[in-house]
Amino acid sequence: MDVVRCQTGSGPRYGVIHAGVIRLLLQSPYSECLYSGEELPLAEARLLPPCVPSKIVGIGFNYALHSKELGVEIPKEPLIFLKPPSALIGAGETILLPAQSKQVEYEAELGVVIGRKTKNVTAAAALGSVFGCTCINDVTARDLQQADVQFTRAKGFDTFCPMGPWIRTGLDVTRMRVRSFVNGEPRQDGSTADLIHPVAELIAYVSQVMTLNPGDVIATGTPAGVGILTDGDCVVVEITGLGRLTNSVKEL
Ligand code: MG
Repeated sequence: MDVVRCQTGSGPRYGVIHAGVIRLLLQSPYSECLYSGEELPLAEARLLPPCVPSKIVGIGFNYALHSKELGVEIPKEPLIFLKPPSALIGAGETILLPAQSKQVEYEAELGVVIGRKTKNVTAAAALGSVFGCTCINDVTARDLQQADVQFTRAKGFDTFCPMGPWIRTGLDVTRMRVRSFVNGEPRQDGSTADLIHPVAELIAYVSQVMTLNPGDVIATGTPAGVGILTDGDCVVVEITGLGRLTNSVKEL
């Protein structure tokens, strides 16, 4: 099942894609999908980020080769940080390069969307909390990340969290191919099979700290091959078996 949120005459609505049509829901899909009977052609819909997280938990340096390319030691425990929901944009929207940074970079990541209230879950039970998966670009002002102790500024600018185009349910999070492309050129190519801390462990770890709510998102870390974005670029995050998240880039 592919769950989207889209703009409608009655405001943002959740929907489920069926053969090129979005069937609108009466409410969020986490407990059950209640169809309203309304439909929209997918091709004409303006897609929004597919969920409304109370928090987006990022994971730093969760692929060995990415830690190596940045010259950072692999953390022994998951390194967690928050991206503000105000940074979210949907598929097809524009990443805005802020004047404060000279080095804004893409980071293709598997986004795991939580489907139920989760606190102190064990790793063995954690995948039961997953609603589905989406593509995330954890856009990062690398120069500010290196200048600051906290990642908040570097990862928190408006438009720095493209997500979508949909949440796909029923996928095997342990072996998903995560790639990025800039202007059609391949840049990153990794697999969640290579995560230092796999998805189940991440959910368990984060849930020992904070309650995860339906719609919350964990951005699971980025593979090697990160690089700079400049005005006019088109950046794609592609996860095999899930979809492609495409965003343009513009200088503010
Ligand atoms: Mg990242």
